[in-house]
Amino acid sequence: MTQSAQPQHMVTRFAPSPTGRLHVGHAWSALLAMDLVRTRGGYFLLRIEDIDGTRSRPEHVAGIIEDLRWLGVAWDGDIVFQSARLDRYQAALERLEAMGLLYPCFCTRADIAASATAPHGPEGPVYPGTCRGLDDAERARRIALGEPHAWRIDMARAAARAGPLHWRALPFPPGEEAASCISAEPLAAGDVVLARKDAPASYHLSCTLDDAAMGVTHVLRGDDLRSATDIHRLIQTLLDLPSPIYVHHPLLVGPDGRRLAKRDGSIALADLRAGGMDPRRLADDLRHARFPIGISLASA
Ligand code: GLU
Repeated sequence: MTQSAQPQHMVTRFAPSPTGRLHVGHAWSALLAMDLVRTRGGYFLLRIEDIDGTRSRPEHVAGIIEDLRWLGVAWDGDIVFQSARLDRYQAALERLEAMGLLYPCFCTRADIAASATAPHGPEGPVYPGTCRGLDDAERARRIALGEPHAWRIDMARAAARAGPLHWRALPFPPGEEAASCISAEPLAAGDVVLARKDAPASYHLSCTLDDAAMGVTHVLRGDDLRSATDIHRLIQTLLDLPSPIYVHHPLLVGPDGRRLAKRDGSIALADLRAGGMDPRRLADDLRHARFPIGISLASA
């Protein structure tokens, strides 16, 4: 870590997952987070969320760094790689397990999808709790047999332990106003995964721990992660971590009205660059919410 855990200044970050090249939506988010500290004094950090061993690729890390440099996004200090921090995630999992808040889950995606009772939460189907009721002997037996398993949080128990939760929010775009308090409702997401079968931590755990370790004071990210903030607030409370102020920005959509995504050929910065786009012009346009043709803000 390059900054103290108790910063005197505003600290923001951009935290891409290296599963593809950056698109215009990422560029907008990165510029917004950087500009927030550039106008007020502080640090803007870059974290690569590369713990997904199946989808993260070194060539995408290099591509993301190249894209950001091209656009004129400059971060302070060293880049933080989540893949170098697995021991911290493990230690946090052990703390939560010692509190009796985790259980191993052996279900496959197909098992969960097949559950007729699975209601939908903010992040998709809510886990029906199948493995929550397994007894210790059965858990130990299946783990000893090497059966792949994730670790889920017993959300009802965790939420009861944490009590009523709030997170602090600034509206978008953030001005000079004081932060308001938003009630966090982590129960709606159900027993989310904190350590995946194929990765030693989930996004929720690693992101929450790293924001605290990096001294992040302001998290600026897309509206799609608003419900994740409820979960992150819970994890902060359970692990005695500070809670940043959150700013959720609207999402960008493509010509078809759908969210920009790496997978469906949304306008990638690499393509704009190859097409001769002037990066200073692009950055200036994005700062003024002028988006390339076909891209617009999602209506609320
Ligand atoms: N790696 C996450 C993403 O690319 C970042 C989420 C966040 O900013 O908390 O969506």
